[in-house]
Amino acid sequence: MVEKVIIIGSGPSGYTAAIYAVRDGLAPLLIRGSLPGGQLMLTSAVENYPGFPSILGPDLMDNLYKHANGLGCRILDEDATKVDLHPYPYKVTAGGKEYETYSIIIASGANANWLGLYNEKRLIGKGVSGCAVCDGVFFKNKDVVVVGGGDSAMEDASYLSRLVKSVTIIHRKKTFGASKIMQERVLSNPKIKIIWDSIVVDVLGMEHVSGVKIKNLVTSKETTMPVGGLFVAIGHSPNTELFKGQLEIDGHGYITTHDFTRTSKDGVFAAGDVQDKVYKQAVVAAGWGSMAALDARKFLADKKLI
Ligand code: NDP
Repeated sequence: MVEKVIIIGSGPSGYTAAIYAVRDGLAPLLIRGSLPGGQLMLTSAVENYPGFPSILGPDLMDNLYKHANGLGCRILDEDATKVDLHPYPYKVTAGGKEYETYSIIIASGANANWLGLYNEKRLIGKGVSGCAVCDGVFFKNKDVVVVGGGDSAMEDASYLSRLVKSVTIIHRKKTFGASKIMQERVLSNPKIKIIWDSIVVDVLGMEHVSGVKIKNLVTSKETTMPVGGLFVAIGHSPNTELFKGQLEIDGHGYITTHDFTRTSKDGVFAAGDVQDKVYKQAVVAAGWGSMAALDARKFLADKKLI
């Protein structure tokens, strides 16, 4: 039997693709992985997913799972371990079994990069955040630090400056790598201070972040700065290992899409954070998931496979 569509990944984009594909009669197989749910499993309160004024990330993912499962989607709790895009139909291996499929929706997501500080993991959700748009509102009237010098750091700092008391960007070089216009926005913002040539060597606090320890890389001098939040904006690592060498991937590791969700291979679609380096929001990922399912249906119909 050849599957019509296999969906790889179970964040908001994977589940949404599954919901659309089931309702479209495509009988999708959702390979949701051995640790399903994606990045939202690591967050606490989500307050920007429409229809849910406040919901815990894992509860939101459980709702999405129940929605897809309730519609009768076949769901495999295994990791996809191999994808072969050279023969057609394509081949996907998961749980030691090989599946053939006419189309694939890649919704394998991305992971935020962290600094690897001693106390960082313990304080995620307690003042350490990888998403300014998600968590900024919890830092009203606080001083916060943003680490990074790329577009994400610029965007996070500008966004936070409208909500919090003050923002300090800490960057390990003496210039930013971000696009000129975004740098200019930051450099002319009176609420944003910049500490160059420096790294955060630890984040302090018991129940909540109370400060950061900073090291100047030129002088090696260490100082402590009292702050209520640490936003880490040093990039994301999209989960594309299975597709390297088979699909076009950009310089930052994201799957390249064109004409909405289409990848460089016919019948292979990508949705959510694995291809979105700009927005990185659950609701956006869900939207991409629905688009990928609709694009897959059109592809299958054009090929007269449904
Ligand atoms: P980038 O890889 O562009 O930048 C990462 C930044 O983090 C760099 O300044 C890097 O410093 C720094 N960094 C990396 N590791 C560490 C570390 N361990 N300690 C301290 N600093 C570190 O990632 P972004 O997420 O900013 O951007 C990724 C892509 O997404 C880009 O193409 C960007 O243009 C795009 N983007 C676009 C947006 C938009 O258009 N609105 C918004 C956000 C992102 P160094 O330079 O020293 O390596």
